[in-house]
Amino acid sequence: MKFTVDQELCIGCAACEDICPTVFERPESTSKVKLNPVPKKLQENALEAEESCPVAAISHKT
Ligand code: SF4
Repeated sequence: MKFTVDQELCIGCAACEDICPTVFERPESTSKVKLNPVPKKLQENALEAEESCPVAAISHKT
Protein backbone atom coordinates (compact mmCIF):
# COMPACT_ATOMS: atom_id res chain seq x y z
CA MET A 1 0.00 0.00 0.00
CA LYS A 2 1.41 3.38 -1.06
CA PHE A 3 0.35 6.67 0.47
CA THR A 4 0.43 10.17 -0.98
CA VAL A 5 -0.02 13.61 0.54
CA ASP A 6 -1.43 16.20 -1.86
CA GLN A 7 0.84 19.17 -1.30
CA GLU A 8 -1.79 21.58 -2.63
CA LEU A 9 -4.40 20.45 -0.10
CA CYS A 10 -2.27 19.89 3.01
CA ILE A 11 -2.62 22.68 5.61
CA GLY A 12 0.21 21.37 7.79
CA CYS A 13 -1.90 20.60 10.85
CA ALA A 14 0.36 17.62 11.72
CA ALA A 15 -2.53 15.35 12.68
CA CYS A 16 -1.15 12.60 10.44
CA GLU A 17 2.27 12.85 12.05
CA ASP A 18 0.72 12.69 15.52
CA ILE A 19 -1.24 9.56 14.62
CA CYS A 20 1.34 7.74 12.52
CA PRO A 21 4.81 9.31 12.91
CA THR A 22 6.61 6.35 11.35
CA VAL A 23 4.95 7.04 8.00
CA PHE A 24 4.13 10.76 7.98
CA GLU A 25 6.32 13.71 8.87
CA ARG A 26 5.80 17.41 8.58
CA PRO A 27 9.32 18.80 8.13
CA GLU A 28 8.10 22.21 6.94
CA SER A 29 4.67 23.62 6.18
CA THR A 30 3.27 20.45 4.62
CA SER A 31 3.36 16.77 5.46
CA LYS A 32 5.29 14.14 3.55
CA VAL A 33 5.26 10.37 3.36
CA LYS A 34 8.64 9.12 4.51
CA LEU A 35 8.02 5.39 4.19
CA ASN A 36 6.59 4.01 0.93
CA PRO A 37 5.31 1.44 0.39
CA VAL A 38 3.93 1.28 3.91
CA PRO A 39 4.67 -2.07 5.61
CA LYS A 40 1.63 -4.21 6.34
CA LYS A 41 1.84 -3.81 10.10
CA LEU A 42 1.63 -0.01 9.76
CA GLN A 43 -1.14 0.15 7.17
CA GLU A 44 -4.01 0.30 9.66
CA ASN A 45 -2.28 3.15 11.47
CA ALA A 46 -1.62 5.00 8.20
CA LEU A 47 -5.25 4.56 7.15
CA GLU A 48 -6.32 6.02 10.48
CA ALA A 49 -4.14 9.06 9.73
CA GLU A 50 -5.70 9.32 6.27
CA GLU A 51 -9.20 9.31 7.77
CA SER A 52 -8.20 11.95 10.31
CA CYS A 53 -6.86 14.46 7.79
CA PRO A 54 -9.23 17.46 7.98
CA VAL A 55 -8.80 18.35 4.30
CA ALA A 56 -8.60 14.82 2.82
CA ALA A 57 -5.08 15.43 1.52
CA ILE A 58 -3.97 11.83 2.10
CA SER A 59 -4.77 9.05 -0.34
CA HIS A 60 -3.50 5.54 -0.91
CA LYS A 61 -3.23 2.85 -3.56
CA THR A 62 -3.17 -0.85 -2.88
S1 SF4 B 1 -3.40 15.59 8.53
FE1 SF4 B 1 -3.67 16.27 6.39
S2 SF4 B 1 -3.58 18.51 6.48
FE2 SF4 B 1 -2.74 17.74 8.40
S3 SF4 B 1 -0.51 17.68 8.03
FE3 SF4 B 1 -1.36 15.64 7.55
S4 SF4 B 1 -1.78 15.66 5.33
FE4 SF4 B 1 -1.53 17.79 6.02
